[in-house]
Amino acid sequence: MKLQIGGFLDNSLVNGDGMRSVLFVSGCIHNCESCQNQLMQSFDYGDSVLVGDILKKIVKNVPIIKGVTFSGGEPFESALALSKLSEGIRKQGLNIWCYSGYTYDEIINSEDKDKLGLLKFIDVLIDGKFHEELRTDASKYTGSSNQRIIDVQKSISENKIVLWE
Ligand code: SF4
Repeated sequence: MKLQIGGFLDNSLVNGDGMRSVLFVSGCIHNCESCQNQLMQSFDYGDSVLVGDILKKIVKNVPIIKGVTFSGGEPFESALALSKLSEGIRKQGLNIWCYSGYTYDEIINSEDKDKLGLLKFIDVLIDGKFHEELRTDASKYTGSSNQRIIDVQKSISENKIVLWE
């Protein structure tokens, strides 16, 4: 199985908690005003890479990294392949953060089994479209104040949105 990838960072401190590898997945339908990653809205941008080869790049960064962040683009448009990758990431004992233009509610209420399947692998979801009029510097992980940093596993088990702390 392959993923269309717009970029990969071995080590980053600004895309989630602790040192992380970051995967930028191509393709997005949200069309946010002032999108910072317009090139990655295209589903053809970047390279088509085997999931196993991406995992090898991530594993090379263990034990420096604490986890992996999926960004984009819209990771949930590539949910099936990312679920496959997430299985391997979990086996390394790494946590998974994910940025999405979808809200948590849209994903959890979706009838798309692939999107729901991916959500179950995510530890922290930063959700919602970027809104220029709500742009904020208040949080180092979100771009606009509508976006939330959600503890996905607690939210699923408690059946309500629990914010990450
Ligand atoms: S979700 Fe992200 S990549 Fe997609 S249009 Fe919005 S800012 Fe751009």
